[in-house]
Amino acid sequence: MSASYPHLFEPLDLGFTTLKNRVLMGSMHTGLEEAKGGFEKMAAFYAARARGGVGLIVTGGISPNVRGRLAPNGSQISHFWHIKEHKKVTDAVHQADGKICLQILHAGRYSYHPFSLAPSAIKAPITPFKPRQMSSRQIETTISHYARAAKKAQQAGYDGVEVMGSEGYLINQFLCTRTNKRTDKWGGSFENRMQFPLEIIRRIREKVGKNFILIYRLSMIDLVEDGHKLEEVIQLGKAAEDAGATIINTGIGWHEARVPTIVTSVPRGAFTWITARLKQELNVPVVACNRINTPEIAEKILQDGEADMVSMARPLLADPDFVNKAQQGKPESINTCIACNQACLDHVFKNKRATCLVNPLACYETELVMQPVSSAKRIGVIGAGPAGLAFACYAAERGHEVHLFDSAAEIGGQFNFAKQIPGKEEFHETIRYFAHRLQETGVTLHLGETQSVESLSAEKFDEVVLATGVKPRQLDIEGADLPHVLGYIDVLRDHKEVGKRVAVIGAGGIGFDVSEYLTTTESPTVHPDEWHKIWGIDKTYQHRGALLTQKLAEPNPREVYLMQRKDGKVGAGLGKTSGWVHRNTLKNKGVKMLNGVTYKRIVPEGIEIERDGETQLLAVDNVVVCAGQLPFRPLQESLQAAGISTHIIGGADVAAELDAKRAIRQGAELAARI
Ligand code: FAD
Ligand code: NAP
Ligand code: SF4
Repeated sequence: MSASYPHLFEPLDLGFTTLKNRVLMGSMHTGLEEAKGGFEKMAAFYAARARGGVGLIVTGGISPNVRGRLAPNGSQISHFWHIKEHKKVTDAVHQADGKICLQILHAGRYSYHPFSLAPSAIKAPITPFKPRQMSSRQIETTISHYARAAKKAQQAGYDGVEVMGSEGYLINQFLCTRTNKRTDKWGGSFENRMQFPLEIIRRIREKVGKNFILIYRLSMIDLVEDGHKLEEVIQLGKAAEDAGATIINTGIGWHEARVPTIVTSVPRGAFTWITARLKQELNVPVVACNRINTPEIAEKILQDGEADMVSMARPLLADPDFVNKAQQGKPESINTCIACNQACLDHVFKNKRATCLVNPLACYETELVMQPVSSAKRIGVIGAGPAGLAFACYAAERGHEVHLFDSAAEIGGQFNFAKQIPGKEEFHETIRYFAHRLQETGVTLHLGETQSVESLSAEKFDEVVLATGVKPRQLDIEGADLPHVLGYIDVLRDHKEVGKRVAVIGAGGIGFDVSEYLTTTESPTVHPDEWHKIWGIDKTYQHRGALLTQKLAEPNPREVYLMQRKDGKVGAGLGKTSGWVHRNTLKNKGVKMLNGVTYKRIVPEGIEIERDGETQLLAVDNVVVCAGQLPFRPLQESLQAAGISTHIIGGADVAAELDAKRAIRQGAELAARI
């Protein structure tokens, strides 16, 4: 038990086995499942989380057969040779004193291949492939494949299985009339539609016996039209319990839903209200999920009786030792997940291996290793943005003597701008973490100091690392020096006054963020109830799918034009899994997004642009320039001339397409080899 988080560290007795605490590591596909040598890497990945104290781990989704694979090369568990591979994972987790369940996931119409199957032949809006309607025989066989997969998991040493019944995958497709138009015994009434998951649970239980964990992941709110009603969710939860489920995990929203459920602007713990509602009706433990990323919020959910366990997935990518750190009463040392999706979900959706923006070691446990050094160097690092911070902490952790300099009065670099954007408050946590980590690893910090080549020479560093970041690109058009032309730093750092009508030049990540900043009076995370209404979520659950018929209009204090020169969709380059949220947010606020723009000149009355061959004046009070960035490396040449061994990382190295993911990874990779 932990004095700080007594509910989080209360063991959970499941009758035949006991979990040491209330933390369930939620299922995440990492891409290692299909990679060459992936099972060894997966073993190291999960073992690190088991050593870190997680009560119960759930693996990424594995298909029970070929047709249910997520992608043509997707992983499945159906043959005896699969058992040997999975045993590498279960052995490693058990040696680390952990418990692990295999998630069985049949993707149904979400399969990204032409052989997909579904209850009815209705194409999903998020895949190009139309599924075939399953015959009665195929349904029977698929159920037996679920049971076979569970048996194979048991033979491979797993402590249990999770049946994926949410997020819009096959089981969810059977449950809702949106995707199930069948007229046989698997369609029609809800009683009929829910027989598919119930039969799966019963058949698994028959195959694996009593003493095996069986988690059923229940879709609590579908957030799509023709989704569940609350009474149906409760009915199914009770029936799943009767059929043999040990734990009910919860799922929020189908993948095709146009309501954000996990991105950074979703308030912390935004969906626990619905888990609380279900918990009242069930006897088995119920798990809360989505946007739970600190021990405080986890403890509060349990203390308030909203759930019996909390599921955290991405927070355990960000910090494998999250649980142990919480138990030791050191929450400030946790590397917090900022819910950016940039290195985890965005990677998986692009068929790349998942990792983490704030923890580049995640899923690279056997490759990016911070070995202690045999001979310590004295290293000077210039710039305490994400690149310099990551390098400094990892290099000091290895045993080097590190001095970190920044001309600014605070660490964090551009993250100090990012954290001010409404809905991006989580970015504070990364700066907090690094501040703590610098102390833990013994880095000497020098703030408010600009170094010269002479001062660096006098310090006699063995190596110097330049992490001085970027400078904003200046506009080269008539009128760019007029007083009403501002840069994003003027707005976000210097808080210069901005008028009611604004033209933003450049629609990259920063142009979007600045537009959000200018059109928001108060961050939605401050009033979670309003956030629900803005996105049309019905907390009274009177409508199917928990969708309101009318969304709340957000107040917008300004009229904003957001512009780019390219012809394509404005914001096309934003994150794969988060870009649509930014685009919808600005659309809902009436921001006018213009593509194919030529900037002619800036005049005191506004900005003249040409679009579709026509010149027009946008009458605005201010023009804010967010036109990308260039590398800033003031000392490079003089350091090299002085013969000082110099490394360049982050934006100082390459500014094009720079983000914090690259900056931090580059810092870590250099620290691992220096
Ligand atoms: P910087 O963060 O620019 O840090 C450079 C540091 O060097 C600064 O602290 C500076 O003071 C210091 N320095 C410069 N010259 C000297 C000198 N001569 N002596 C001493 N110190 C010096 N990225 C994402 O991945 N996701 C996001 O959601 C995201 N949102 C953003 C939102 C905004 C509004 C902004 C502006 C940026 C955002 N970014 C985001 C980009 C991300 O912040 C940068 O990619 C990242 O900060 C680059 O890291 P860096 O360490 O290379 O440079
Ligand atoms: P960016 O994404 O490269 O966007 C720069 C914008 O400026 C583009 O819209 C570009 O579009 C325009 N532009 C480029 N050169 C121009 C010129 N000479 N004149 C006028 N317009 C010009 O860069 P950013 O917005 O500065 O962001 C920097 C980095 O921070 C990005 O790489 C991004 O990954 C990261 N970031 C990420 C997020 C996030 O949510 N993930 C948020 C903020 C920042 P046209 O060429 O079409 O005009
Ligand atoms: Fe969290 Fe971002 Fe890391 Fe994903 S990449 S785990 S969202 S911090």
